[in-house]
Amino acid sequence: MRRLFGLIGLLLIAVAFPARAEERLNVVASFSILGDLVRNVGGERVSVTTLVGADGDAHVYVPTPADAKKIADAKFVVVNGFGLEGWLPRLVKSAGGKASIVTATAGIAPLTRGSDADPHAWQSVANAKIYVGNIRDALVATDPASAELFRVNADVYLAKLDALDREVRAAVAQIPESRRKVISTHSAFGYFAAAYGVEFIAPVGVSTESEASARDIADIITQVRSAKIPAVFLENVSDPRLMRRISAETGAKVGGTLYSDSLTAEKGDAPTYIDMVRHNIKALTSGLRD
Ligand SMILES: [Zn+2]
Repeated sequence: MRRLFGLIGLLLIAVAFPARAEERLNVVASFSILGDLVRNVGGERVSVTTLVGADGDAHVYVPTPADAKKIADAKFVVVNGFGLEGWLPRLVKSAGGKASIVTATAGIAPLTRGSDADPHAWQSVANAKIYVGNIRDALVATDPASAELFRVNADVYLAKLDALDREVRAAVAQIPESRRKVISTHSAFGYFAAAYGVEFIAPVGVSTESEASARDIADIITQVRSAKIPAVFLENVSDPRLMRRISAETGAKVGGTLYSDSLTAEKGDAPTYIDMVRHNIKALTSGLRD
């Protein structure tokens, strides 16, 4: 009989305090690539909300009132930093100003272009590993009881990123050295260029906020001709017309689409960070082939 009461007691406790798995941690990520990294480290314990979703442009995002609510409900907000999310301070203020902010690029030395930091640090897989470490540490600090889970998830994912980094190097090695030159719309591949030795030239700067001037475009056309750049690439976050025009005027072929600042929806070419990097190296190797 006592045992029966014991069981009923346990049952009542279970009803009153549902399993911890059901009370996930709400984490907000500023854009889709960060959202994917948080999902990989947080696993089942974390419910991730992404502000700038698939194919969205984080440089020029306009937050909605619903975003302020998401931030107010979150344990913390993961941002890239390096000037990517210029719209964030106002959003945090309209959410009550209490959000705790985790900067994924903490510990990375930014590349600069003129006086601007280049925010696209995730395009080097070694940097993505630093992002993952920062996200893991923030999750562990927020929910120490799940620390072991976050550490194991992070280790599994970091091993995948190591393999991905090797894949990128092997792919670039297949491109003849004289053909490792690319035109992309905005300067989103500086970290990729520095890490893997492919030269990128772009008529638009490190943010999509500005537009290329007639002079910028004329300069690029001259460079494509004189350096015999084999291919121009489109971006999922930029208007394709400029690249098509440069292609038409120079004879450089359109080598496909590179995913720079955003993942695609589930059925697209780049629904995860790893898919995005793989897609880009495939596009580069096929677009720059002899
Ligand atoms: Zn960008």
